[in-house]
Amino acid sequence: MSSRITYYSTNRNLDRVEGIVPFKGTVTFKEALLMGQAPDEGLFMPHPIPKLSIDGIHRLKGCPYPEAAMLVAESFLAAEIDRDALGRIVLDSYDFVVPLEKVVNRKYIMRLDRGPSASFKDFAARMMARLMSAFRDRGSRLNVLVATSGDTGSAVGEAFKGVEGIDVYILYPRDEVTGRQKKQLDTIGGNVRALSVDGKFDDCQNLVKQAFADPDLGGMNLTSANSINFGRILPQIVYYVYAYAQLAEPGDPIVFSVPSGNFGDALGCEYARRMGLPVRTLVMPTNENDEFPRFLDTGIYEKVFPSRACISNAMNVGNPSNLARFFDLYGGTVDRAGVVHKTPDVDEMRRRLFSIPVSDAETRATIREVFGRYGVVLEPHGAVGWRGLEAYLERQGDFPLCVALETAHPAKFPEEIRELLGFTPELPQSLKGIDARIGEPVPLSSGYDEFKMFLKNMLKTRQ
Ligand SMILES: *Cc1c(COP(=O)(O)O)cnc(C)c1O
Repeated sequence: MSSRITYYSTNRNLDRVEGIVPFKGTVTFKEALLMGQAPDEGLFMPHPIPKLSIDGIHRLKGCPYPEAAMLVAESFLAAEIDRDALGRIVLDSYDFVVPLEKVVNRKYIMRLDRGPSASFKDFAARMMARLMSAFRDRGSRLNVLVATSGDTGSAVGEAFKGVEGIDVYILYPRDEVTGRQKKQLDTIGGNVRALSVDGKFDDCQNLVKQAFADPDLGGMNLTSANSINFGRILPQIVYYVYAYAQLAEPGDPIVFSVPSGNFGDALGCEYARRMGLPVRTLVMPTNENDEFPRFLDTGIYEKVFPSRACISNAMNVGNPSNLARFFDLYGGTVDRAGVVHKTPDVDEMRRRLFSIPVSDAETRATIREVFGRYGVVLEPHGAVGWRGLEAYLERQGDFPLCVALETAHPAKFPEEIRELLGFTPELPQSLKGIDARIGEPVPLSSGYDEFKMFLKNMLKTRQ
């Protein structure tokens, strides 16, 4: 067997930092998946990064998406899970299409919006849910607690729906979600319960944090499904490999443009390159939360606080949680609070990465222009991605194979699209039935005692 992949913490070298006890050890994938983050609050990093052969990648041409998922997943997990089990996981996770839509010349949009919640987060959440089910201790039940301000909750809830051995509790702020989001969350059903909290998003997050810290709930198999789990990064490597295999001729380099908030999506591309995919440049446009493009310009990192509210609202992040992983891969260290302890190799970053901020005005202009010129409908996140690609090509001046990611379905932004383009996009299949679904949330106050009582009565730890 090739060298075994283990997982270390991005905080492992922070010996002299107040309040951090660095985790010097390593864990297996299973442990990283079930722990979520390292004991020192760092993020888990795989080592060594497995390699894919270029022939193996090209052989995926014309193959269905799950085969690409199998190739990538096996390269990380072969030592920890058997092949048949992994094969079932990828087939069950990816039962929807992944359109690669030609825009012009060799420039494409990859639509990652055909999963059950019509956002690219479905790709990661669905596979992570099934990995958790497969890796949990035999016969045990896991209880996933999620606080959401809207979109993540429905991706996670839909992802875990019907997954064996896992129950999910989603807490959302009663008066802060839209009618459609509330409907989406309340009616998932089965093993997924919605809890509508009389409070704000912060209250929901605090309830979840208190539950995780409560020794009385210590034996309750509580776990989180948050976006820093390496189990959510791994599936995000796959679509880069898939797109390259479908579109490239042998020897082609490729440019990907990834609209970025917490940088988990872009990190998948960074890993794909390090695994052997010929990515010439990873373009990482942000919205007006421009801490990263400013860092690439100046070498000085300053988070944006409070974060700016833009129409690409899933990217309103002023201090990306996966920045610690990017810094680590380029030889630096930054902690969760955004304090830089060691500056990474910024020149090397500039050779590989390109980032610019895209304003709301530019985002709207891009939606209009791309529709007017090419008849292609983008929503705000995808428009940031496309605009980033254009800006890169304007500077670069040549025409390699390019793919920009569309991360949500335009029908999730009906008012914005109607205002800009004069029509309302049709709902994708996955969202069509939602208005007819029924289901009621459990109402909760924002006090911890009531939540704790609910958990003590509800949670099961055995199958
Ligand atoms: C979460 C999200 C993003 C940003 O992805 P990150 O991995 O956080 O960078 C972009 N678009 C949509 C629609 C999202 O939901």
